[in-house]
Amino acid sequence: MTALSSSIRVQRIAKSKINEVDFDHLEFGKYISDHMLVVNYDHGKWHEPEIVPFGDIAMSPAILSIHYGQSIFEGMKAYKSLNGTITIFRVRKHWERMNRSLDRMCMPPISEELFTNSLHALMEVDREWIPTSEGSSLYIRPVVFATESRLGVKISDQYKFIIMTSPVGPYYSKPLKVKVEETYVRAAEGGAGFAKCAGNYGVSFYPTHQARLQGFDQVLWTDAKEHKYIDEAGTMNVMFVLNGKLVTPKLTTAILEGVTRDSILTLAKEMNMPVEERKVGVDELAEACDNGKLTEAFGAGTAAVVAPIATINIHGKDHHLPTPTDTSFQQRVKQKLNNIRLGIESDVHGWNYSIK
Ligand SMILES: *Cc1c(COP(=O)(O)O)cnc(C)c1O
Repeated sequence: MTALSSSIRVQRIAKSKINEVDFDHLEFGKYISDHMLVVNYDHGKWHEPEIVPFGDIAMSPAILSIHYGQSIFEGMKAYKSLNGTITIFRVRKHWERMNRSLDRMCMPPISEELFTNSLHALMEVDREWIPTSEGSSLYIRPVVFATESRLGVKISDQYKFIIMTSPVGPYYSKPLKVKVEETYVRAAEGGAGFAKCAGNYGVSFYPTHQARLQGFDQVLWTDAKEHKYIDEAGTMNVMFVLNGKLVTPKLTTAILEGVTRDSILTLAKEMNMPVEERKVGVDELAEACDNGKLTEAFGAGTAAVVAPIATINIHGKDHHLPTPTDTSFQQRVKQKLNNIRLGIESDVHGWNYSIK
């Protein structure tokens, strides 16, 4: 694929900061690449994108996003293969989701052309920042927020769309200890749980912090009405291997539709793994733990890809799961996903957006 990215104006950094980066010890999100892409919206339209050195931006303390929360983001990854080809994973899927988030927050849509060309141009400018060692990638963070300066409650008439990137290493996730959350909620049906908006993270901090104080890494969110069904895992979707089938909560307006979730469900079918998207009961899980029918549980998201769950606390009782091995479904599907991203396995679904 090619894009008309060359028309985007670039103001290069005077001195690259790449030599300050310890590529052998990349902490998630610690280093931000030299450049960012910025697009402004006002008078009813998005203006010309521009690539500038990453740095501070001047803003009024009265911008509407700080006060009333019109702020959404995306999280995606780019990889560089050994022959130097850059691939960005599932650009269209992320673009579609970003527009669903924008729509829910009454923010203006972004065209696929603007989104894709912007990403393409930024990858070309900061191509040296894409790590090549195994399991590494360039994390891409698009964000859109309201910038109109005004104290009255209203839908903003001005926005900024910024894309920044950060080199990340293999995400080692120690097996997680999670707690089924039966007091607090992240999102209720009819709310904005399906949108990747900043506020969803703000509300999740307190319950997650409480769970941490009790010795857990994350919570498993349950439905807001009855706390009887599993929604998702902290900041990831959650999947189970139950009775030999891959089981995951069916999407509702309270669940974020993960791109990793979708990729894993697609690959599972090809791996002859039966898939069930349905309500997953808390009591059903407890029972499946007790009778050994629950053999795997894991979080699925762009950052970790797959994060194994070792312990699930249900109604105050810890249930332990076997440690995943190379033959576990989660390990096999993670490997397959990585192979597709790096061009080791063919990309039959057209998931990779490639830049030569
Ligand atoms: C981003 C996110 C996910 C995972 O989505 P991916 O597209 O797979 O990265 C899951 N849950 C929440 C709440 C999220 O914000």
